[in-house]
Amino acid sequence: MENGTIYLVGAGPGDPDLLTLRAARLIERASIIVHDGLVSADILALASPSARLISVAKKRSHHTLPQDEINRLLIREAKAGRDVVRLKGGDPLIFGRGGEEAELARACGVEVEIVPGISAANAAAAAAQIALTHRDAASIVSFVAGQCKGLSDQNWTGLAGKGRTLVIYMGVKTAPQIAEKLMADGLSPDMPLAIVENASRPEMRMIRGLLAELPDLVAAHRIGSPALIVIGEVTARSDAELAAQAAEAAA
Ligand code: SAH
Repeated sequence: MENGTIYLVGAGPGDPDLLTLRAARLIERASIIVHDGLVSADILALASPSARLISVAKKRSHHTLPQDEINRLLIREAKAGRDVVRLKGGDPLIFGRGGEEAELARACGVEVEIVPGISAANAAAAAAQIALTHRDAASIVSFVAGQCKGLSDQNWTGLAGKGRTLVIYMGVKTAPQIAEKLMADGLSPDMPLAIVENASRPEMRMIRGLLAELPDLVAAHRIGSPALIVIGEVTARSDAELAAQAAEAAA
């Protein structure tokens, strides 16, 4: 029997309109979908009523299915001749362990196709109208993971500051350590930032503030997952700058 194919599919940030056509088609015709907790109910609703939906939701504190069991599940289904859609929030290759799953599949001789998705950084930037790069404010953008494991060992020196935008995934729980780490690296406590929660979803919220306020903002607004922290001058294009541009455009 021929192996099935594993499709590693990016589901984007939650709004079904932000799926690629390829992703939507694969979801609609799939008979097995293995999905993360981040994949929204609206997107899962596109699946056929006869499809088998398997949730492998990962939460920071309790892993429903450890990664090696997810790997085994994917390989077992593919080796039984079934195509599997492995659906992940955002883009599968950005903090999504898509790389690990693709490598293992290749090692086991199972064909993999990767379908990119709109990553949370792109979705949050668009929804909150924050340009991640801007000719007047930033020519470098970095994506980092802010979860606890190894946070203090990660070298973020130079990733944030003047002319640079830093986007932090999974950073809500560790916001106090993140603010401390960046200030210890020399970033100004006055550096502006935005927190974007539930980007692209109806319940989206955006909160702006300064680096020194980050832990208080997260606590005061009870920011929950999923949320991104964007740090840099692009988050605070001032009203004065916008007014000057409007005047120039009208002249
Ligand atoms: N592969 C995903 C990221 C997975 S890591 C992607 O490319 O987007 C999970 C983290 O992504 C969350 O902790 C959060 O920081 C971020 N995230 C995912 N969806 C989000 C959304 N709709 N709004 C804000 N942040 C989101």
